[in-house]
Order: sequence, then structure tokens, then C-alpha cells
Amino acid sequence: MEASDHRDGVLEDSQAFTEDLGATVNRAIGDDPAAQQIAVELLEQLCDVPLPADLAQQKIREIQEHRRRLGQKLDREVDFRVAALDYFMVHDQRLQNPRVIELDRFREYALRSTIDPLTGVYNRRFLHEILHRETSRARRYGHSYSILFLDIDDFKLVNDKHGHQLGDEVLMSFASTLQMHLREEDVAARYGGEEFVAVLPATTSEGALHVAERILSACRNEAYPGGVSITASVGIAEYPIDGTSAAAVIEQADKHLYAAKLAGKDQAIARAEDQRRSPRYRASCLVTATITEDVIQGAMHNVSLYGAMLALDRPLPIGRHVTLEIREVQSDNTITVSAQVVWTSVFGGLAHTAGIRYHTPQPELIELVRNGPGLKHAPRTPP
Ligand code: GH3
Ligand code: MG
Ligand code: MG
Repeated sequence: MEASDHRDGVLEDSQAFTEDLGATVNRAIGDDPAAQQIAVELLEQLCDVPLPADLAQQKIREIQEHRRRLGQKLDREVDFRVAALDYFMVHDQRLQNPRVIELDRFREYALRSTIDPLTGVYNRRFLHEILHRETSRARRYGHSYSILFLDIDDFKLVNDKHGHQLGDEVLMSFASTLQMHLREEDVAARYGGEEFVAVLPATTSEGALHVAERILSACRNEAYPGGVSITASVGIAEYPIDGTSAAAVIEQADKHLYAAKLAGKDQAIARAEDQRRSPRYRASCLVTATITEDVIQGAMHNVSLYGAMLALDRPLPIGRHVTLEIREVQSDNTITVSAQVVWTSVFGGLAHTAGIRYHTPQPELIELVRNGPGLKHAPRTPP
């Protein structure tokens, strides 16, 4: 099952919700490969009770048993929700003051409190929820995601020159520009004032940089209300390389935003920026990659001070930390390096390629590959 199957949760619209509830409960405690995940989401969405996977399944089994007993006493079938409510209030006491409400009405309330009233994008409170959800999803499936932290340049001047009212209209249009250049699965939120954040699931910072360039270019070319021209600056950060929690990713994106402002505004900066400028050297090395007990063989053809590209006989999971034993073929010298997997792809359907980033810069490795016989004139590939 794909991660995206859970994007809208296990309980979709309200009709399907009632019809499929029984099926969903059975899947949550059956032998469906995604059973544990479904169990977690079922209790979270139905009762707002977050539980770890094994406990969620156990609770659902207990609720089913409770439901059977209630049914016997009342001499009629009892809805899973009724049993769950009674179970969590009386037996488990996780719920003390629950409210019963029609799902559609609940969604309406919930939606209202997630939207920024001026711009129509999500508000900051909901952004945090999205980020936490995206972080656990990325962690669970070994994906990455990126965020854009956008700040309109010199927005104070727009207000000073044209008034707050027009400033508001410009903010609304900026939010539309932003949304127009995001994919359906991306999420835009107003962080506050003239600052916005976009969350880009399953996207590396390189991909996010392209998206940011498109947004900035659209901004430059757009005539905003009152004929105002604006530019914006963007800081980009990627989970898990730039931070392994939602807060850390936001903080890193904010730092890059600050760097973009310092560098003269109207630009986007991602962490990889300085590293992309560092020269890459061709290498001829054999590599043994170890993740805990697992050993994967391959070769390394391309290195820089910060990272390298590997061709492997099996894929490496993105975000995982690996120990690499690198043997330079000509000199037979070896070096051991610890690194993190940054991206992966399949090359011609045969070799699995992976980009890795060392935990610390590796000048010795550069020395090793540059001094290897036959590599005296190693051409630098352009950054
Ligand atoms: P920089 O390029 O460094 O980001 O400069 P800036 O002027 O954009 O940044 P600064 O933080 O100095 O000012 C932000 C301005 O955004 C100040 C405030 O009046 C304006 N602003 C914040 N929220 C709103 C809003 O809801 N409506 C309007 N019209 N203006 C707002
Ligand atoms: Mg600002
Ligand atoms: Mg600003």
C-alpha cells in the first residue's frame, strides 16, 4: 500500500465512513499489510485518541469485544462508535468529556479553524499539524519532504506607499500565485504577516528549489493590485537532512530565508547550495555500505568534499545512516566514512544509484581519489 493512500485518512466522506466502518475495523485487526497503520488512524480520526500501532490494534480488539457484550445486553447490534465511546470513557478513561457531533458539521468547524481568513490558505496552527503528520509519514515510509519558507521583500514599503488595504489585497494575490505553482499534494499556509510556508511531500531540496524559482519568477512578472510589483525571498529545508523533526526543518528553512535576505533578496536558498558549488572528482572506488547488519556492495564514481554518488546492487533507504568502507582500486587504499543517504534512483533499470552526504567533510577521501594512478587529470565535472 502506498503512503499516499492514507493521505486523506482511512475514513473518507461521511457516507463511505458509515458504510465502510465495519470493513475498516476488520482491516485494522486483520492480516492486511497496512493493518497497524489503519488501526492507528482509525482511533485517531474516530476518537482523537493517538496510540502506538500495537496498542491501537489491541484497543480495537477490546472495543470489538466490548461491543459484542453491549450487543448481548441490549439485544441488538451496537455501532462500533458507540462501543468505542463507552470503552474510552468508562473502561480506559482516556476520554473524559467527549462531544458527539455530526461528521460533516465537525469538518465545517474544523475547516474554519484551519484557514487564514485573509488569504484562504491554511493558518499557522494547522501548518504545524500538517508538518507533524508529514514528518511521521516521511519517517514511517523513509521518504523525504521539503518546505519553502517565503517572505515578501520590503513589504512594509508597499503598506507605507499604498496603504494597508492594498497591502492586504497584495497578500491575497501573493497567496494565489503561491498556490498556482504548487502541486495538488503540496500545502500552502500563512505563517504570519507577509510570511508563508509551503510543504512539499516526497520532494528533495533540489526539487523544492525548482518550485521556488518558478514561484519567484511568477512573482516578478505578475502585476499585483494597484500595479504594485513585488519580489520574495525563500529559504528551503528538507527532512530528514536539514532536520529530523518538524520544528528543526522549519528552523533550518528560516535560517536559509535569512541567508537569502542577506544575499540581496529575490532569491531562494537551500542548504545544498554551498555544496553544489564544491568541485566533484571522478573516482574509481569499490564500496561496501553497511546499515546495522545489512551489507550492500557497489562502486563510487563521483565524489566531493561533502558527498558522493554510489552505484549499488541494491537500493539504500533515503534518510538512513550508513557506514561506507571505500577502497580506491588503483592504490588499494581504504578509508571508512559515515554518511546519510540523501537521494536514490534506478539507473537504466539495473544499478541503484544513491546520493550520500558524509556526516563530516572528507578531505582525506578527496586526497585518496585524486592521488590514485590514472586519475592525475581527473576532470572536474561542472558544479
Ligand atoms: P524584508 O524584505 O526584510 O522582509 O522587509 P519587510 O518590510 O517585508 O519586513 P518587515 O518584517 O520589516 O515588515 C513586514 C511588514 O508586513 C510590516 C507589516 O506592516 C506588514 N504586514 C504584516 N501583516 C500584514 C497584513 O496582514 N496586512 C498588511 N497589509 N500588511 C501586513
Ligand atoms: Mg517578514
Ligand atoms: Mg518581508
